[in-house]
Amino acid sequence: MKRLQDKIMQEGLVLGNNVLKVDSFLNHQMDPALMQAIGQEFVRRYAGERITKVLTIESSGIAPGLMTALELNVPLIFARKQKSLTLREDIIVEKVYSFTKQETNEVTVSKRFLSADDRVLIIDDFLANGEAASGLARIVEQVGASVVGFGIVIEKSFQPGRQMLLDAGYRVESLARIASLSADGVAFVNEAVEEAKSEAVQQ
Ligand code: 5GP
Repeated sequence: MKRLQDKIMQEGLVLGNNVLKVDSFLNHQMDPALMQAIGQEFVRRYAGERITKVLTIESSGIAPGLMTALELNVPLIFARKQKSLTLREDIIVEKVYSFTKQETNEVTVSKRFLSADDRVLIIDDFLANGEAASGLARIVEQVGASVVGFGIVIEKSFQPGRQMLLDAGYRVESLARIASLSADGVAFVNEAVEEAKSEAVQQ
């Protein structure tokens, strides 16, 4: 998504070799018009999938998740993060290791909001090692609902999350795919080259 790539180029800050700071439009201050365009793009990519719920994780997934849900006219659920929890029967719990905070959280969703006949689109702001994404998928699958796929705003393609999700059989749609982060800046994956490579493998 060109508009998102431009915004990352203009406002993204690279921290070390593997963290991108985008707190001027996604992680702290948020750009509503960009979030709306992001929601519309996810809906375009997942057209015809009969999605019944959008699921994300607090807090940075909420803005793109809500705009996607608005466009689909379905509810958004955000999983809550809690450090530790006394087990209760009405919630679904999964452990998720946080890439940025380097700690494990218990992530919970109320059983009232997901059921076996739901078709769920999972949205998140970043995909790195895939811990958050696969934790959300396990929550959906615990109730017997279906994961339609993942909608990722920024994928760091040099980290293993995307491949792990593809290997597990999931569909992954990422609006900006980053090939590398360095002091020189951000380099994006060349989607045309990637597509040609995967077509060559399939033949
Ligand atoms: P994963 O679970 O795939 O390892 O990491 C994804 C989660 O970590 C996202 O929910 C996001 O909040 C956070 N994250 C991972 N990498 C980055 C990054 O480079 N920048 C920011 N701002 N957040 C990140």
